[in-house]
Amino acid sequence: MRILVADDSRIARMEICASLLGWGHDVVQAEDGTEALRVLRTDTSITIALVDWMMPGMDGIDVCRRLRAIPDIPYVYMISITSRNGRDDLIYALEAGFDDFIAKPVDRAELNARLLVGRRIADLQRRLLDSCEQSQFRATHDALTGIWNRAAILEFLRAQLALSIRKASDLSVLVVDVDHFKKVNDTYGHSSGDFVLTHLAQTMSSVVRASDWVGRYGGEEFLVILPETSDAYRVAERIRSAVENSPLHCGSHTISATVSIGIASTQYLTDASVGKLVEIADEAMYRAKSKGRNCIDTGDVPIL
Ligand code: GH3
Ligand code: MG
Ligand code: MG
Repeated sequence: MRILVADDSRIARMEICASLLGWGHDVVQAEDGTEALRVLRTDTSITIALVDWMMPGMDGIDVCRRLRAIPDIPYVYMISITSRNGRDDLIYALEAGFDDFIAKPVDRAELNARLLVGRRIADLQRRLLDSCEQSQFRATHDALTGIWNRAAILEFLRAQLALSIRKASDLSVLVVDVDHFKKVNDTYGHSSGDFVLTHLAQTMSSVVRASDWVGRYGGEEFLVILPETSDAYRVAERIRSAVENSPLHCGSHTISATVSIGIASTQYLTDASVGKLVEIADEAMYRAKSKGRNCIDTGDVPIL
C-alpha cells in the first residue's frame, strides 16, 4: 500500500517509516500539515495516511477536516497518531474525520494490525467503486457493440438540444440504418450479424469527431448526434463511405454492408424537440431507403 506519514518530528517519522518499509509498503513523507494536505490532494494513489495531531502551522485535525471537505477525491483511510489519547481527544479526532487513532509511542504490532483494518476498508471501497463504475457503464452502453445505448444517446440529445437552444448553435441528428441486414443474418448467421453490427459501430465512431456521439438506437439502427454542426451532410457522407469501404473479414467470408442515412437539423426547425428531430431524421432515412439505399436523404437540410 502507498502510505503517507506526516509528522514534524524527524525521529518519529523515521521510526514509523522503517516499520512500513520493512512490511513492504510504499511510503511518502510530509514534515508538516500543509505539506501533508498538499500530498493528499495530489497523490491519489495514497491509501492510508498516518497523521500526527500536533504539528506547527496546520495540525492533524485541520488536515483531516480540510481533506474531508474536498469533494470527489478517492477516500483516504486516516489514522491519527498522537500522545493526546484521552477519551475526549479520541472523540474529537473521529469527529474531525479520522477513521482510527494510535497513541504515541507507537507500538509496532498495533500499528500493523490497524493498517490491516485500513487495507480491509480500502479494498471494500475499491470494490464498491469498481462495481458502481461497472453498473454505470452497463446502464449507458450497448452490451453488444460497446457504444452508447438508446437511453444514453437520447439523454445526450436532450442535453445537447437544450445547450444548442441556449447558445443559438446548430445541432444535427443522423439516423443510420443498415441496408438489407436481415439478409446478412440469413446468409452468414446471427453471430456473424452481431460481428457486423460491432464492426459498424466501431467504423462509425472512428470517423466522427470526439465531441460527437454514436449510439445504438435499436436493432440495426444507430443515432449520431452532431453538436454545433451545420454541415451534417459531410459527416453523413463520411460515415456512408467508410461503411461501404470497410468490409468485415469474418472467418472465410468477407461481409460488405452499406447504410442509409437520414438527417435532421435544428436550424430548419422552429420548435425543435428530441422527438421531432428523431422523427424527421427517421423519415429522411426511409426516403434514402426508397431511393435505393446506400445513400443519404437530407430532408430540409441543404447539402453544404
Ligand atoms: P432495410 O434495408 O429495409 O433496412 O432491410 P433490413 O433487412 O435491414 O431491415 P429489417 O427491419 O427487415 O431487418 C432488420 C434485421 O436486423 C432483423 C433483425 O433480426 C436484425 N437484428 C436486429 N438486431 C440484431 C442484433 O442484435 N444482432 C443481429 N445479428 N441481428 C439483429
Ligand atoms: Mg435495416
Ligand atoms: Mg431498421
